[in-house]
Amino acid sequence: MSLEKQQPSTIAAWGGEERPLAFGAAQVPIVQSAPFVYDDVDSWLDVALGRAEGHIYSRNTNPTVGVFEEKLRLLEGAEDATSFATGMAAISNTLFTFLRPGDRVVSITDSYGGTSKIFLDFLPPMGVEVELVETGNDEALEAAIAKGARIVYLETPTNPTLKIIDLPRAIAAAKAVGAISVIDNTFATPINQRPLDLGADLVLHSATKFLGGHDDAMGGVLAGRRELVRQVYHYREITGATLSAFGAYLLLRGMKTLDLRVRRQNETALAIARYLAAHPKVDQVFYPGLEDHPGHAVAAAQMTGFGGVLSFSLHGDFDATKRCLKAVKLAHRAASLGSVNTLIGIPATTSHVECSAAERAHLGIPETLIRYSCGIEAFDDLRDDLETALAAV
Ligand SMILES: *Cc1c(COP(=O)(O)O)cnc(C)c1O
Repeated sequence: MSLEKQQPSTIAAWGGEERPLAFGAAQVPIVQSAPFVYDDVDSWLDVALGRAEGHIYSRNTNPTVGVFEEKLRLLEGAEDATSFATGMAAISNTLFTFLRPGDRVVSITDSYGGTSKIFLDFLPPMGVEVELVETGNDEALEAAIAKGARIVYLETPTNPTLKIIDLPRAIAAAKAVGAISVIDNTFATPINQRPLDLGADLVLHSATKFLGGHDDAMGGVLAGRRELVRQVYHYREITGATLSAFGAYLLLRGMKTLDLRVRRQNETALAIARYLAAHPKVDQVFYPGLEDHPGHAVAAAQMTGFGGVLSFSLHGDFDATKRCLKAVKLAHRAASLGSVNTLIGIPATTSHVECSAAERAHLGIPETLIRYSCGIEAFDDLRDDLETALAAV
């Protein structure tokens, strides 16, 4: 059975699991073994030299991890995929595989915090030039890419103010200068956005977020053109930032419901965004599904859903934000997103805690900003909870 042409919910359930599994198990076994055993040298050699399929050592490949990679490969419509211990391992291994002294990277100012650290603190001392363009300014991005780049690294929607980058436009600019385009698709998920279909070379995820979806496992994954993915795989074999079999199992179990969860989270986030936009205590709401969001038209063109994360700012000061957060009952106050449980956090104390107030202002992050990642709870209950919390402000 080929799953390439099946719909995402079918791939989520069956992807990578078409072949009979060990012991006739109906679900993917956790193959908790470091090495794999060979009784004769010839078949060992065949696998080691890539002439036959099999596994040698779990830092390189592992059957449970392989199923996770295959499921994501199918969901993103990629030629190949490889996985990592965390999302940051996926990002750092990908960047360090391709970048050499003298190379240039073009990205945006609103990248995920850890990614920004690589751009600002790690790459420049290695002799890599980094140009970060104001997020959402598609002309400036195009112009920066036109000056040449080894890697164009983008993320959309962005954290925490859900800005939108015009992907087809930026990817076309990257192609014109022979740059490798890499898209962090964590916020969108392959259910809402498939960057490879829009022409990107590589797409990556923090699987810790929506892919796993239960806040109980960490992982990262990269998918795209085979020749590029293989190079990153070989680098990761040596750096050892490998996903564990148990981690892969948890992520796989979560991914079976990816399509169901994300559709529900899309719906809830839009309804919550509309509710908040009409609330007198709320100043601004950031959600690309709202018609007055500056990136709405581009998002509607390149996404099939607007995602489960939104953010909003309150009238008042930081104390108002603290009171609101304290009063919320149906949300974990925690630094993640994309879980079945609603998560709430303040960028000023989490993802952007290392920025000064002036730097946050420059990035367009209000001091009273609250990030809200919708879980799978009922909309009415979440709305009532927010109503009570906002009354406490
Ligand atoms: C969380 C996150 C990462 C980093 O992933 P980890 O699994 O925490 O290492 C990268 N990009 C985005 C957009 C994220 O939200």
